[in-house]
Amino acid sequence: MKNLQLIKSDNLSELLELLKKEERKYNIIAGGTDVMVLLKEFLIDPQCLYDVSGLSELKEILVDNDSIEIGSAVTMSDIISDSEVSRYAPVLVSALKEVGSPLIRNRATLGGNVGNSSPAGDSIPALFVLNARVNIVSEGNERSVKIEDFILGPRRNVLEKGEIIKSFVIDKMGTDERSFFLKAGSRNALAISKANLAFRFMLKDNLVKSMNLSFGSVGPVVIKSTMIPQLFIGKKPDPGLIDKSCSLVSEEIKPIDDFRSTAKYRVKVLENLLRKCLDEFC
Ligand SMILES: Cc1cc2nc3c(=O)[nH]c(=O)nc-3n(C[C@H](O)[C@H](O)[C@H](O)COP(=O)(O)OP(=O)(O)OC[C@H]3O[C@@H](n4cnc5c(N)ncnc54)[C@H](O)[C@@H]3O)c2cc1C
Repeated sequence: MKNLQLIKSDNLSELLELLKKEERKYNIIAGGTDVMVLLKEFLIDPQCLYDVSGLSELKEILVDNDSIEIGSAVTMSDIISDSEVSRYAPVLVSALKEVGSPLIRNRATLGGNVGNSSPAGDSIPALFVLNARVNIVSEGNERSVKIEDFILGPRRNVLEKGEIIKSFVIDKMGTDERSFFLKAGSRNALAISKANLAFRFMLKDNLVKSMNLSFGSVGPVVIKSTMIPQLFIGKKPDPGLIDKSCSLVSEEIKPIDDFRSTAKYRVKVLENLLRKCLDEFC
């Protein structure tokens, strides 16, 4: 960590120009709640840090007819207290409320949670069910990728040299849609997920019209469920369907044994979380 330089700018174009020219090993830093831990544990070894937390272009929440755009440097606390996000994307707010502690949420940003690209990042399953797109910028260039294509593996994503996450565009949920985020950790606060899920659905005339479901912390990346929504769409939910869908969980996920939990326990916990959501139907 010797001679680590911190570069901060309040101008996005200037920062992107500097990043493009940078030849040293660098990391982006926003709230620093992951970066500082990684530095302390010598898991990263940059020569300089580019601080994006002061860029006003990355700190806006913009609401449109069908979507909401959330700047990557908006803190979790600010997202939680935003009335439009609470109204139109409650599943994201539920997920962010589960992160760390109020102190962490006051610093931690949405861009940092996704940029860290951990399978246990709590915002990510919620972003999956909200069909989030990640807006990426670099000097003279912008591109947008689906959240499920952004993360390539644990702590690996599609960002190339000179690129940063600018914002996330998420669906505005309809008033007739419901959603949940459920998480199992080792204790009630400050716990990284052993398993989590985000669930969004709509019933019409007692039939399932739409369903988005995603699982976190049970594979190298967050997993979008395909089999369970297929099972339900167009049908009237009943206890038999719920039992069948819970038995499909183990086919969709790839949990591992690690210091937080065993793979077997993660399957069981996720089945229980799913049952808790689906019981809402009956
Ligand atoms: C005590 C503690 C408890 C925690 N609990 C939880 C928890 O319950 N759930 C959870 O999900 N996480 C948890 N975390 C992890 C962490 O707080 C989150 O991942 C947080 O969202 C990171 O945001 P940040 O702004 O602090 O990111 P930083 O630490 O600044 O950055 C994280 C990563 O994202 C990259 N990055 C940041 N912003 C951008 C950008 N705009 N463009 C490109 N790359 C970017 C950085 O280069 C870095 O790789 C916890 C951390 C601590 C220390």
